[in-house]
Amino acid sequence: MTKTSYNPFENAQIQFDKVARTLGLDQSVCDLLRRPMREFHFTIPVKMDAGGTKVFQAYRIRHNDARGPAKGGIRFHPHETADTVRALSMWMTWKCAVVDIPLGGAKGGVVCDPPAMSLAEQERLCRGYMRALYSQVGPNLDVPAPDVMTNGQHMLWMLDEYETIAGGRYPGVITGKPVGMGGSLGRTEATGFGVIYTLRNLLNAENINIKNTTASIQGFGNVAEYAARLYTEMGGKVICVSSWNQADAAAYTFRKKSGCDISELAGIKDSFGSISKDKAKALGYEILPGDAWLSEEVDILIPAALENQITPGVFPQRSKKVKFICEGANGPTTPDCDELIHKNGILLIPDFLCNAGGVTCSYFEQAQCSVNYFWSREEVLEKLDRAMSNAFRAVYDLSKERGGIHMRDAAYIISIKRVADAVKLRGWV
Ligand code: NAD
Repeated sequence: MTKTSYNPFENAQIQFDKVARTLGLDQSVCDLLRRPMREFHFTIPVKMDAGGTKVFQAYRIRHNDARGPAKGGIRFHPHETADTVRALSMWMTWKCAVVDIPLGGAKGGVVCDPPAMSLAEQERLCRGYMRALYSQVGPNLDVPAPDVMTNGQHMLWMLDEYETIAGGRYPGVITGKPVGMGGSLGRTEATGFGVIYTLRNLLNAENINIKNTTASIQGFGNVAEYAARLYTEMGGKVICVSSWNQADAAAYTFRKKSGCDISELAGIKDSFGSISKDKAKALGYEILPGDAWLSEEVDILIPAALENQITPGVFPQRSKKVKFICEGANGPTTPDCDELIHKNGILLIPDFLCNAGGVTCSYFEQAQCSVNYFWSREEVLEKLDRAMSNAFRAVYDLSKERGGIHMRDAAYIISIKRVADAVKLRGWV
């Protein structure tokens, strides 16, 4: 029977165990690395506009900080769970290691539904999150950033709360801040651009001209929009984009066979990455069911929404034309589908490599904040491209050297080795 329900933390552990077994790591190293080192579970009472107080469940989970201060986003989502945050914190550790930046892995989350909250309620929630976590964040300890349904404004409210308590200015406490308020130029587009830097490298390595390719994208939030922008700028054609519709509690795929105009679509989406159905229709887009993005006749799939989207249950529906999958989202492919993808000769750039542009640029932001001197956008993007291209090359080459192993396994080999070395050098195991 086809499995329909997946736990992201179990997925992250299955992926880790598979590679750890082949590396012959000591049992103690495996025991340490296959789960988070520290977890904070707390509640945030928030005064609501209509009167009364609502209590929100929140998390901050630190997987491993052997290679440097922990780093990871804060997600606001109605379906957030401790296990989702555990998985994401673990993937952050591998992500920082694969791009070789001196940071560890962490993640935060709040079970909430931002589109159903006023801005004032969201601000109180952000400030409450930081008040609860004040003693456990900082540039030398753990540095949060935005993730799904959080943005620069949320980060700035959190920073302001931190600075109010600390009585000073500490811009390196949090990244993803607005430009001019300690944010780095290029951070908004960094994750999406990073996805395309890795794709460009893969296509070059496979002798394919990006101008002759087509793509289908799931999601139209921060990652997906900027990936789509750079991909189309480089000459690729996005045939369809799928996004979530809050009012209908359903996803829709927006298709234009001649190629989507990304600026046009960005102009008719809300701040949560939801594309307006009526406006899209008026602009000539076909509106299809949410999962139609997967079965489109394209060369490249870019899942850039949420985890557990490409499963053995839906994989057979994909077009046989698909040759590449770029995981913009964290955990979009389930482990039981990895094997199928590999067997079908599809090259997949794994999430913790493909979407590492965000954390890499956050690292640049921290570096700039520490000296209060900010680089130009060109400088940021050039450094980002170099870091992503080097990391991609190491993973791609290792996958080839080992007889064409799945790129996810190659990336895990590199990351796990680096983190295992760090915990050993520190004398933790
Ligand atoms: P976002 O909140 O800006 O956008 C999410 C998008 O996904 C929205 O367009 C939403 O409509 C869409 N979506 C949600 N459920 C959907 C569904 N079932 N079908 C189709 N579309 C759906 O989030 P984001 O920051 O772009 O993050 C997307 C993914 O990338 C997440 O997995 C996140 O963890 C990961 N990621 C984000 C960053 C970053 O810098 N923002 C960095 C690394 C990884």
